[in-house]
Amino acid sequence: MTFVKDMDFKGFKTPIAQLFRALIDADANPVRTSKKNITWDRLLPFVVLHLGCLGVIWTGVSPTAFIVAVALYWVRMFLITAFFHRYFSHKTFEMNRFWQAIAAFGTLFAVQRGPLWWAAHHRHHHRHSDDQDDVHSPSQRGFFWAHMGWICCDANMPTRYELIPDLTKFPELVWINRLDWLGGVLLAGGLWLLGNYLYTLNGSTTGAQLLVWGFFISTALLFHATCTINSLSHVWGAQRFQTDDTSRNNPVLAIATMGEGWHNNHHFYPASARQGFYWWEVDMTYYGLKLLAIFGVVKKLHPVPPWVYQKAGVGLPSSFVPLSSSTMPSV
Ligand SMILES: [Zn+2]
Ligand SMILES: [Zn+2]
Repeated sequence: MTFVKDMDFKGFKTPIAQLFRALIDADANPVRTSKKNITWDRLLPFVVLHLGCLGVIWTGVSPTAFIVAVALYWVRMFLITAFFHRYFSHKTFEMNRFWQAIAAFGTLFAVQRGPLWWAAHHRHHHRHSDDQDDVHSPSQRGFFWAHMGWICCDANMPTRYELIPDLTKFPELVWINRLDWLGGVLLAGGLWLLGNYLYTLNGSTTGAQLLVWGFFISTALLFHATCTINSLSHVWGAQRFQTDDTSRNNPVLAIATMGEGWHNNHHFYPASARQGFYWWEVDMTYYGLKLLAIFGVVKKLHPVPPWVYQKAGVGLPSSFVPLSSSTMPSV
């Protein structure tokens, strides 16, 4: 916290400078109200995101544009689940400071605000799952609020630095978090330039077409798929573990979100790097993390401990020896 305070833009005094700061610094805008209501200016970016998808009426589609959109969906879903969620929110594996900064910067391209904002709100969700303080519980304020209403609310805009002291001690992470707009601008601009270059090179796509497919359509799908874990995965699916919340396991959502759909598993034991606890619970993010571990980018992936498998009652993987009840910690 002290460090975050020290980084205030002290030179930004004049009204124009303050306006400029409001545009570039996610921490510059004060909370105008603590009321938990959707405000139109917070909703506006999402309206623009969805209207941008309609650009397809004019640009049409090409194989190049479609492939770019699909590739950007899966790559960015991995960034969200591996780093926003399993690293910054839960620290389920380790990275050195260099790779941690690269991962933080990479997450900006998901266009879901900064890694510290994301992690702080998510930690709060786990502490208050489905109680009245949960920022996105479908059982408290309905499905739409859980899905995206809470993000359009002024009170949920600031990064809750008090919940992430282990992350704020790294100044580079705080800076990346404050410049959360950078990924979206670089991605949209880069796609536009790439599309124009490809048009002159071989005519396979255009700048506008790549912008519509690679940025607007891919980002809108990525956004809604991510949001289903806050909304749908708390209402649709099976509950393997008796948790004090409404989290569910859902294979359809697990495919769409690279493993996040095993949400009941995750709520029961959030410290594990894998959320599909068995081989048949497909968890693409975990497989990706195992691959990154081979190259040394990530290390010490936290496993599912035997007592969790005991509790699951489905059967232990053969590599585990049965535990006596005296070695099982209470849940
Ligand atoms: Zn949840
Ligand atoms: Zn979580």
